[in-house]
Amino acid sequence: MKNIIMDGKALQVPDDYTILAAARHNDIEIPTLCYLKHVSHVASCRVCVVEVEGMEKLPTACNTIVEEGMVIHTQSDRVIASRKMALNLLLSNHHQDCFSCASNGVCELQKVCNDYGVAHSTFDGSRYKIESEEKNSNPFLGYRPTLCIHCHRCVNTCAKVSGRNAIKVGKTGMFNVIDAPFGPDWESTKCESCGNCAEACPTGALYKKRGQELPQLGGAPGAYDLPPTVRWAASMTCWSRAIRSSALRAQTAPATHGRLCVKGRFGSYKFVMSGDRITDPLIKDKATGKFRKAGWDEALDLVARKFMQLKKEYGPDSLAGFACSRSPNEDIYMVQKMVRTCFGTNNTDNCARVCHSASVAGLAKTLGSGAMTNPIGDITKDVDCILLVGSNPEEAHPVIGMQIREAVRNGCKLIVVDPVTLIWPLRRMCI
Ligand code: SF4
Ligand code: SF4
Repeated sequence: MKNIIMDGKALQVPDDYTILAAARHNDIEIPTLCYLKHVSHVASCRVCVVEVEGMEKLPTACNTIVEEGMVIHTQSDRVIASRKMALNLLLSNHHQDCFSCASNGVCELQKVCNDYGVAHSTFDGSRYKIESEEKNSNPFLGYRPTLCIHCHRCVNTCAKVSGRNAIKVGKTGMFNVIDAPFGPDWESTKCESCGNCAEACPTGALYKKRGQELPQLGGAPGAYDLPPTVRWAASMTCWSRAIRSSALRAQTAPATHGRLCVKGRFGSYKFVMSGDRITDPLIKDKATGKFRKAGWDEALDLVARKFMQLKKEYGPDSLAGFACSRSPNEDIYMVQKMVRTCFGTNNTDNCARVCHSASVAGLAKTLGSGAMTNPIGDITKDVDCILLVGSNPEEAHPVIGMQIREAVRNGCKLIVVDPVTLIWPLRRMCI
């Protein structure tokens, strides 16, 4: 542990803490824009500077490790002036009409500028004049260069969280530009539209086309107070208005570490209000062969009557109940309960035993349990080799696929044994 003094408070913090981590751990606020825990600490925005006694320059809190005896000031006049200057410079290349911006009210840059009373830039930036055209060929995401503050969160998120390296830092003349893959040739890029970059963006420069009507919150997942309309479901947060689910974002959960795939982020909720959904029970009219709407009582009575008729005519073992593995435990429990008590038979099963019978038997024999043996997060830590047998996580479990890419990037060997998709996952993971 290191002993430091921050804003007059004597603190003890772990040796490997940065000044920012020490501050956050002790409820001392230091603003950040480019910083993203575990992902980005390039210190390019310079709004997290602090004053350390004995140091001539103001160090950035996000990547300066604490040292024994440090005396740190997070709100001195020098610090405030430096932060204001950093914001002034950032705004020089940033579109400055917040009221016309879709991210008005949820933009991290706007919040920090408000906190420090910086409304406009006194400099005339020139990057935004040459790089202003919006890119929007991707069906789910778009990029507005005039809102971009070059914080590189998106670049680092795509590289380290999604493992795709689809966003690059390019050059236009003397300027660096964020080369987001949403231009005319998006389909030929490595982008898989997971949207993790847009979720990391602090300004709305990278934006989601779906669910835009509700908050696009940048920053570290879990860093925000949730508005009252938010419901938690597993490792996602679902924003909803009335009964319409309208936006999703990942939470820091052990299995996902704040990641989502394109299906989870953009495809898993719009069907709720689809006009194709059956919302009433339908009973087929034998005479016409057509379905007609029925009430729940009528439909359930009919089904129960038919089951009991079969039981009476052919005995309990003529009936069976088969539950879907995607159903919650409670629903599956109810199915077997109904089969055993109402039908009077033990003919009940779950589809996990069909598609996973080989792996369940193999796991039980070798490891003693036919179930997952490790938390998914273990894949990315202290793993020398991953042996994938008959599995294509890139296609079937993309969020686990992202974590396998991370492991491979960290030096883990990957061996794929799969008669169907031998080439595909290898190709994707080796890109
Ligand atoms: S959507 Fe996903 S893959 Fe595409 S650029 Fe963003 S983080 Fe990378
Ligand atoms: S697009 Fe957003 S996340 Fe990427 S560099 Fe610009 S402001 Fe930062």
